[in-house]
Amino acid sequence: MKPIYSIVAPVYNEEGILREFYNRVSQVMTDMGEDWELIMVNDGSRDSSIAIMEDLAASDSHVKYVNFARNFGHQTAVTAGIDYATGDAVILIDTDLQDPPEVIPKLAEQWKDGYEVVYAVRAKRSGESWFKLATARLFYRVLYRITEVSIPVDTGDFRLMDAKVADVLRNMREHNRFIRGMTSWVGFKQTGVEYERAAREWGETKYPLRKMISFALDGVTGFSFFPLQIMGTASAFLGVLAIIVAIVISVLRVSLGANFFGGQATTIVLLLLLTSFQLFFLFIMGLYVARIYDETRGRPLYVVASTSGFDKQAIRDADVPPHDYIVASTGGFGEAVNDE
Ligand code: UDP
Ligand code: MG
Repeated sequence: MKPIYSIVAPVYNEEGILREFYNRVSQVMTDMGEDWELIMVNDGSRDSSIAIMEDLAASDSHVKYVNFARNFGHQTAVTAGIDYATGDAVILIDTDLQDPPEVIPKLAEQWKDGYEVVYAVRAKRSGESWFKLATARLFYRVLYRITEVSIPVDTGDFRLMDAKVADVLRNMREHNRFIRGMTSWVGFKQTGVEYERAAREWGETKYPLRKMISFALDGVTGFSFFPLQIMGTASAFLGVLAIIVAIVISVLRVSLGANFFGGQATTIVLLLLLTSFQLFFLFIMGLYVARIYDETRGRPLYVVASTSGFDKQAIRDADVPPHDYIVASTGGFGEAVNDE
């Protein structure tokens, strides 16, 4: 039977908290009293997370999982969860309990009031370094200014979306994914619900600085051409500056003597400065070019090693590009997901 709520949870080395996560979700959903499914996506965990998922799936039919062939990254794991979800509403939530499952009923309330996307806004964040808080604050505000779609500030992926929105997302197969921007891009009626983001209850963040930067670049390049456009402004600025400097130096040389500004030091500094500018702009162009290359290769977004608990027919009916369902092993081809 088709569930009302599909809860999508990406899992990467979360063995210490997975059971607790399941307990809290299951408690909240049981209290809500409507049918639900929990889709956990194992993003190539190297700990015992998958064994715990197998266990949970065996003891509760609400629990289903998708097991990736390797680590494909958080945003791709969420994507797979959405691909496999069959509910009338799809809820994205982290498994580290930083997004309290107790907020789900509040999201659902707004959905029942007619909103197609209900995102959870972090009113407060505990247990995070000042550096992460400050950079995140700045990032969301800059992103808001430079993109054409308004991506709400201080909002992660914790959100509820109507099946209509999930359907559009299933057909957006871009490779460098920024889900929070993509759900804003879709449109429909959207609203936010404030919540207090908890500290991670166990383990460490899987988003070190390097991944945070690359994620931020996905957000910027995926939704704006601003970095390319400022190249035009910067080149105009430097051009005008060059003309002014040429005039000023000519005047100074005529009035103060031919050797004025004759030093090589100035030339060297300027050369380095301009080269650095140019390389920076090349780097920005490179970001966009690399993304074009990524798309033209046309590789699947992820590779699935195994799944559990899914109604194969429902998946087939979902009309998702089937090349994303490459499965490492099958048995009795009649049942294979990828059987066209
Ligand atoms: N995650 C994932 N794949 C990754 C990194 C993270 O599936 O490569 C999952 C992780 O298990 C968690 C969620 O994505 O459920 C958010 O990650 P994390 O809590 O480390 O990020 P933070 O909250 O620190 O930004
Ligand atoms: Mg977290």
